[in-house]
Amino acid sequence: MSDHPDTRAIVTRFAPSPTGYLHIGGARTALFNWLYARGRGGTFLLRVEDTDRERSTPEATEAILKGLDWLGLDHDGAVVSQYERAARHVEVAQEMLARGHAYKCFATQDDIAAFRDEARAEGKSTLYQSPWRDVDPSEHPDAPFVIRLKAPRSGETVIRDAVQGKVTFRNDQLDDMICLRSDGSPTYMLAVVVDDHDMGVTHVIRGDDHLNNAARQQLVYQAMGWDVPTFAHIPLIHGPDGKKLSKRHGALGVEEYQAMGYPAAAMRNYLARLGWSHGDDEVFTDAQARDWFDLGGIGKGAARFDFKKLDHISGQHIAMMDIDALFSQVQDFRTLTGKPELTKRQRTGLHAALPFARNGAKTLPQIIDKAHFILTERPLEIDEKAAGNLDDVSRRILSELTPHLQTASWKRDELEAILNRAAEDRDIKFGKLAGPLRAALAGRAATPSVFDMMLVLGRDETIARLHDASA
Ligand code: GLU
Repeated sequence: MSDHPDTRAIVTRFAPSPTGYLHIGGARTALFNWLYARGRGGTFLLRVEDTDRERSTPEATEAILKGLDWLGLDHDGAVVSQYERAARHVEVAQEMLARGHAYKCFATQDDIAAFRDEARAEGKSTLYQSPWRDVDPSEHPDAPFVIRLKAPRSGETVIRDAVQGKVTFRNDQLDDMICLRSDGSPTYMLAVVVDDHDMGVTHVIRGDDHLNNAARQQLVYQAMGWDVPTFAHIPLIHGPDGKKLSKRHGALGVEEYQAMGYPAAAMRNYLARLGWSHGDDEVFTDAQARDWFDLGGIGKGAARFDFKKLDHISGQHIAMMDIDALFSQVQDFRTLTGKPELTKRQRTGLHAALPFARNGAKTLPQIIDKAHFILTERPLEIDEKAAGNLDDVSRRILSELTPHLQTASWKRDELEAILNRAAEDRDIKFGKLAGPLRAALAGRAATPSVFDMMLVLGRDETIARLHDASA
């Protein structure tokens, strides 16, 4: 189905309920809204649905803001608090009442229970039908009441969803939903509509667990004579096994992916592909995503979270990222994980090592691991496996290399020639020499190429490390 045909300036929003962290599904919803607005010169708003006062702590909101910030999903204007808008929600409920689109219902919990028992006994729908719907206000008692929407009882409510297509609901299956509770507080269902209208939201892009809500929400728009936004209900995310994504599939919170060291750009790319496609394009930039993203590209079926694909996309982003940007992300990651600040020597070395340390890496910690040789300080800690490569013979070879390295021009060709000659002279394969060199230069058995390491370490540090290892 094509996107909304009108030319209103696009306004989208992300409306999370603060539950303590930014769920990966919520992050994808936010991303879709962000891409849709940003690609069309529109506005992307953020509203915290904090009406559940017990769950909505400032910390929970903070966690969502942090997650969005890390993902780079910047919003326009101030964060809207749904709770703080309660007076406005009440005002709209009163207006619907005044216009005859809502009514006061004085039914008690017992009345409702009795209605349901009777309906059940008679084999009828248990959807509550209030007897107060058409009672003249002059006959109202002085008792607590709720305000209910006077929903149509016959006919159909049709949602024209940009993802799901035409979805039809029978009105006799939609009850007169409560807009204002007996304590005067607005319900979530009312608040969402009032907020979306007041915020000028043109496109509601959200999880399809809200599709049923859309039908009832549309009735509120109609009751108030407001434009109905374009709805786009996106299928939920499933785990690799096709079941609803849950903790047992792995990380659910965006901050966990940050902690695993996936670059934010890779995460955006992966999440964009989770349920949306643009031909066969798998790896793309933000600019491409903004250009390409449309509601028509969102699939109707649930997307499956696939860690292998995330790794693949992440590896591609790491490979194509500008070195300075990668450098600052690696540093941010170290800070995030509580690592001490790097010295000037380490910073310079890390920057120089990135072009090869990123080879094959899928995450930032994998890069840091490859750059271990430059981040570690003399005297090196030599791990057990590497120590196994340092016997007396190899120690002597390392010390014999020193005079040659002393006078070498510090260029790859010449270093290669020196080391190859050293191996030939002793009638050993270069591989035999590489183990002791890796141990001496990095303290490990698996490292980047010895030439790459030597070039980054420089002559003095290289010779000092060979000396340490051969002592
Ligand atoms: N607060 C709702 C949620 O977190 C979203 C409501 C909406 O997008 O309309 O599921």
